[in-house]
Amino acid sequence: MKNSTSKPTLIPRMYCNLFGHDYQVTKKVTYHVKEYTCRHCKKELTTNSNGKLIELTPKFKEINAILERIHLSRTERLKKKSLVSSIY
Ligand SMILES: [Zn+2]
Repeated sequence: MKNSTSKPTLIPRMYCNLFGHDYQVTKKVTYHVKEYTCRHCKKELTTNSNGKLIELTPKFKEINAILERIHLSRTERLKKKSLVSSIY
């Protein structure tokens, strides 16, 4: 029985090997952390706490989701209580 699963094409990856990845920002998690996806091979990267680009693993996706939630609630709070932020 023939198993006709479609193999991932090698061309995009070859392109990236030759010309480098073409990353685009797909998500802004916080001011400093962003998620990137390569336009050609769909490789995903994220910025870690040191500001370096690393591979976006499911673990980091989880961390980014938490970071995003914290970041959103923080910016919301700042909008509402601008008086409180001046104390800090
Ligand atoms: Zn690529």
